[in-house]
Amino acid sequence: MTSTARPHLNRRLAEFGTTIFAEMSALAVQTGSINLGQGFPDTDGPEEIREAAVRALRDGRGNQYPPGPGVPELRAAIAAHQQRRYALTYDPDTEVLVTAGATEAIAAALLALLEPGDEVIAFEPYYDSYAACIAMAGGTRVPVTLRPDGDSFRLDLDELRAAVTDRTRLLLINTPHNPTGTVLTREELTAIAELAVERDLLVVTDEVYEHLVFDDAEHIPLATFPGMRDRTVTIGSAGKTFSFTGWKVGWVTASPSLVSAVRSAKQFLTYVASGPFQYAVAEALALPDSYFEAFRADMRAKRDVLASGLAEAGFGVFRTAGTYFITTDIRPLGAELSQGGDGFAFCRALPERAGVVAIPNAVFYDHREAGAPFVRFAFCKQTGVLEEAVKRLKALAG
Ligand SMILES: *Cc1c(COP(=O)(O)O)cnc(C)c1O
Repeated sequence: MTSTARPHLNRRLAEFGTTIFAEMSALAVQTGSINLGQGFPDTDGPEEIREAAVRALRDGRGNQYPPGPGVPELRAAIAAHQQRRYALTYDPDTEVLVTAGATEAIAAALLALLEPGDEVIAFEPYYDSYAACIAMAGGTRVPVTLRPDGDSFRLDLDELRAAVTDRTRLLLINTPHNPTGTVLTREELTAIAELAVERDLLVVTDEVYEHLVFDDAEHIPLATFPGMRDRTVTIGSAGKTFSFTGWKVGWVTASPSLVSAVRSAKQFLTYVASGPFQYAVAEALALPDSYFEAFRADMRAKRDVLASGLAEAGFGVFRTAGTYFITTDIRPLGAELSQGGDGFAFCRALPERAGVVAIPNAVFYDHREAGAPFVRFAFCKQTGVLEEAVKRLKALAG
């Protein structure tokens, strides 16, 4: 065989050839649609934090390679944030690592902690980089399906326990959960923690939406549970919390030996990133509680606009307790409008039919049939944009 006869993309990654986001964003542009597919805000974060980045850049702070673990100011601010919010104590020098967004933190953690063949349990539907990173690390993913239960998706704890084998190395948790909007409860987290301790598992927990929880939902870091602090890699990010997704500043907090392992992989991925932005994020993390409360209230109001509009348009709407996504069930729209309950077909046709782009949740599943009728909409957009999207979707339903 010649080098051109063999597929260029290797077997580990063959199934991850192109993301749905590329296809759907291209469709949005072609059709002039409102893009509620990809989750990024259409308004920048706080002006004073933007100015802090400009100041750092002008003052020559971070324009050259910052220190490998992250600039000391940011590591101190991350440790202070974990202390202030959750009474979790981390040493900024040995237990905090700054990464190129949560995306790199996830990749580096899996590359560092897995041996080939190790099993990783993750909830499906899952964030799209999990499956690809487990594959790049040579691990085997074992999905545990979150299932609709009343107005939200829930974890079946018996199914989770049954998924653990002698080859399980790690639980990959995400709460608040993208795309379902589920926030794991104290009871669920207690059971997960007990299982991790009993079976001696590592836990990597993606908590990028920690500040986006609504109503009576509460975000409780897994690292706060008994026996968890030293087996848990907690991942956070400035992108979602401060509405600067382009800055790519994320972080890991964990025990010295876990941070040191993750750093070993991280140093050969990006080495370092986002120098001046690290100083700005250090200031952002120290913003008063009023910032976080106003941000949450604003996103909750946007959630309510989109959720009630989708319900009026005839969708089944699941309750979003956290994140900035709403998962809907298209089947109540009827067989014809919902394309027989096929989320893929529905989302491919929606831009042309209604001028709105959404994402079929099936792309986040191994068991695609379990996700077939569900479609995700993002509400981190200006209220006027959401209202216009709702108007278009209502017109679709007639
Ligand atoms: C957006 C997102 C990320 C990526 O965060 P970055 O800091 O932009 O890399 C990771 N996990 C989840 C669940 C997300 O929604």
